[in-house]
Amino acid sequence: MKYSDRDHPQNLSVSMESALHGPELPDFTDVMDECRGRLRNRLSELISMEQLCRQAGDLISTRTEALIDVKDFTLPLVSLTIGNPHTAKHCLLLTAGIHGVERIGTQVLLAWLETVIERCRWDALWRAQFNTDIAIVAVPIVNPGGMLQDSRCNPNGVDLNRHAPIDAEDKVPFLIGGQRISKAIPWYRGKRGAEAEVEFVALQNIINRYCQIDRPSMLIDFHSGFGFQDQLWIPYAYRRQPIDDIASYVALKLLWERNFPHHNYVFGPQAMHYLSHGDIWDYFHRQCRADGITLLPLTLEMGSWLWVKKHPQQLFSFAGLFNPTVPHRQARVLRGHLLLIDFLLAAARNIEYWQPSGEQEREMQQMAQSLWYRQL
Ligand SMILES: [Zn+2]
Repeated sequence: MKYSDRDHPQNLSVSMESALHGPELPDFTDVMDECRGRLRNRLSELISMEQLCRQAGDLISTRTEALIDVKDFTLPLVSLTIGNPHTAKHCLLLTAGIHGVERIGTQVLLAWLETVIERCRWDALWRAQFNTDIAIVAVPIVNPGGMLQDSRCNPNGVDLNRHAPIDAEDKVPFLIGGQRISKAIPWYRGKRGAEAEVEFVALQNIINRYCQIDRPSMLIDFHSGFGFQDQLWIPYAYRRQPIDDIASYVALKLLWERNFPHHNYVFGPQAMHYLSHGDIWDYFHRQCRADGITLLPLTLEMGSWLWVKKHPQQLFSFAGLFNPTVPHRQARVLRGHLLLIDFLLAAARNIEYWQPSGEQEREMQQMAQSLWYRQL
């Protein structure tokens, strides 16, 4: 597929629509029927996701976006929607498990979806927001093959967050910033000019389908494995200069801090930490921006070094570097981000109320300059 294809669905023939928005694949449950029993101890997150959907009844719709063949399994890459993302005024997209080993991101997202569903049952006002104001689109396991194998990369050895067709404009850290030397080394980008990986295409289809000019959207992507503190990262990773929407990010940061002054996240540009090639959200943000579409992606990078510091035995398992292994700490992480995600849902629903324009936009740009970009 071409990376930049986009058109309005009504004008498309069925085959074109499938090329742009993704193929029709078997239902989530039908795919699970073939592998559920064998996945219980190996990919419990997928089992939990299916249970959540079953409990949610009509509140959640599912769509199989791709089928991933790995070992003896055919795994579904699934999107869940709450509300109608074809007609809602706004969208909040949530993604996790791009790096298969970072299971905690998937668990945090599922824990939040559970609270959304439960609250829909007794809070009429909460539920009403999904009639027209906002829709949720969640992909809790972007890389199910990688998660099955406890690996950062997908089953083809590609790091999906180094894979987008975008090169950094400045020096990136050796290997970590993305490499094309070998798929035996982590952070492999894939061969130059090769077909896009199926997981990447699935995300592209979701963006094409739901992100539209008249539907400003926000996105949060969950990761773990870097730093001692939870960080909210503003794109870009491919350059140090501020993202075009930097004023909106400053406004969002101020809104967050005014509402939750005792929060404990470091909120700033990813490029202050490191640059990388092929960042998926750099690519999708630029693509949407070129098409006049508002999409504000954020990355939550959970500070897993703290979990390792408190429980050094985790150093002896690869997964332990990315996930809390002690139950009470896992529970703390699962409840720790609910408020933030609730806030992002409300922020996406009300984006017109806080997105700056005119003089205010210029002020926010200046604020960004003094906060983060003085050296440029
Ligand atoms: Zn990650």
